[in-house]
Amino acid sequence: MIKENKQCIVVIEDLTHQGEGVGKIEGFPLFIAGAVPGDKVKVKIIKLKKNFGLAELVKIIKPSEDRVSSICQYHNLCGGCQTLTLDYEAQLVFKEKRVKDALRRIGKIDTAIKPVLGMENPHRYRNKAQFPIGYSEDKLSIGFFQRGSHDIVSIDDCKIQHPFNSKVIDIIKNYIRANNVSIYNEKTGKGLLRHLITKIGFQTQEQMVILVINGDTMPNEEELAHTMTQTFPNLKSLVINTNTKKTNVIMGMNNRVVYGHNYITDTLCGLEFQISPHAFYQVNPVQTEVLYDQVVKLADLKGDETVLDLYCGIGTISLLLAQRAGKVIGVESVEAAVEDARINAENNQIVNTEFYAANAEKILPELASQSVKPEIIVVDPPRKGCDKEVLEAMVKLNPSKIIYVSCNPSTLARDLRFLEDNVYKTEMVQPVDLFPNTVHVEMVVLMSRVEK
Ligand code: SAH
Repeated sequence: MIKENKQCIVVIEDLTHQGEGVGKIEGFPLFIAGAVPGDKVKVKIIKLKKNFGLAELVKIIKPSEDRVSSICQYHNLCGGCQTLTLDYEAQLVFKEKRVKDALRRIGKIDTAIKPVLGMENPHRYRNKAQFPIGYSEDKLSIGFFQRGSHDIVSIDDCKIQHPFNSKVIDIIKNYIRANNVSIYNEKTGKGLLRHLITKIGFQTQEQMVILVINGDTMPNEEELAHTMTQTFPNLKSLVINTNTKKTNVIMGMNNRVVYGHNYITDTLCGLEFQISPHAFYQVNPVQTEVLYDQVVKLADLKGDETVLDLYCGIGTISLLLAQRAGKVIGVESVEAAVEDARINAENNQIVNTEFYAANAEKILPELASQSVKPEIIVVDPPRKGCDKEVLEAMVKLNPSKIIYVSCNPSTLARDLRFLEDNVYKTEMVQPVDLFPNTVHVEMVVLMSRVEK
């Protein structure tokens, strides 16, 4: 009998999309946080649902051969790094399987999936951190949300982040205490300080610190800026972002520079990029170069093509391709990112690009009814994938190649199915590990138009 509160022994066979181990009892799947494939574990059933149950790890009876010891004291408390205790090679195998399963099941696509391109050193790879600030059991906490909750795990050091974050956290905590800064309460909507965001250019070492506040000013901003610049000679930007809305969206619309510029600069694939507070920039620069190399290789440009780069951010892919194409048109919804993209083109002396600040689903149908004739379309949408209008307009634009960069196997599979139903064929699927020690995976896909 499977009952809540009952203890049982299971062998872990798989991982869920959230990184929980899956073990079966009488054929019924149990999801167990902290267990990895190959583990034999004793668990306690916590909750039963129709098709699966949630169970708590009581004891590891026999550890998996793929289990490695945790290098992080917050593992299993903090919501990040779900697969930290799974050997890195096994993580890559899991990600390949995850992509394959989604493409087969959701997209009915049976193109071979290439082995995931992994990282040599899968730690300290992130160039951006977003820390919620709050009280946890009356203790001032800056860290990450606990798995499945909004309680904050206070973090001194995160093993996938740059070490500079530890010092920033320390300074901000001291500043809060010294100035009696009130902390935002998600439930009441009262209190000032909400989030700490940091960005660092791995090549340039330039640093940006953003404080998200429920108001316009902070006490003693000048003094804080002074402490920061004394500690971090590479600090290029200290920004106050105002967010007075009761929302899960981290940043508000308005930025005010307290020190330095409203951007940092980094270099990637030999080009220089300015990155402003609101602009997206891939979080793992080492692997981003691997990803972009794939895009360049698959585009295989001859020099006179017109390329559309949809969801182009600060124009990273656009500028790389512009060096090898006739013309690149980029589309991006965040205005600040488009401004960065235009400046980036100029700073790199690239003259054959054009950027539109617009929603892709809005502007693409318009472009499709004009005389724009791209040979190649690159898309790199957020997790929800492309809107139907975008996919339809892409088909209408009739490029010979589509390069789809995605961070979500499910929406990728759905969108590839639509394009396969409309004269495109999936030629190649290459996953790249942009997010080691987590369940997330990035993919680049080449599709070509099927000639009739
Ligand atoms: N290709 C870029 C950015 C990819 S992230 C890079 O590699 O850096 C996805 C981008 O899509 C983000 O910059 C986001 O602001 C943008 N975006 C989100 N929704 C959009 C929409 N509806 N239309 C156009 N751009 C959108």
